[in-house]
Amino acid sequence: MTYVIAEPCIDEKDKSCIDVCPVDCIIETERQLVIDPTECIDCGACEPECPVEAIFPEDALPEKWLPFVKINAELAAANA
Ligand code: SF4
Repeated sequence: MTYVIAEPCIDEKDKSCIDVCPVDCIIETERQLVIDPTECIDCGACEPECPVEAIFPEDALPEKWLPFVKINAELAAANA
């Protein structure tokens, strides 16, 4: 599994999550941060750091933000 960064991060990009990720798999893109699902070790360290509550385990992502699973994967691959 992976963690996913959803819509609240758009144009927010607080970046506190980047500081705590032990494997450096959170990537900054033009409008939001994303998590590289091929690198995330599912540790959960990033989730409580986000001031806008944009980070979720993939299996607990609110349904309205399900498209962000693909968005994280595609933007991570494009910006790696
Ligand atoms: Fe990084 Fe852990 Fe968050 Fe995955 S769950 S993005 S490994 S801090």
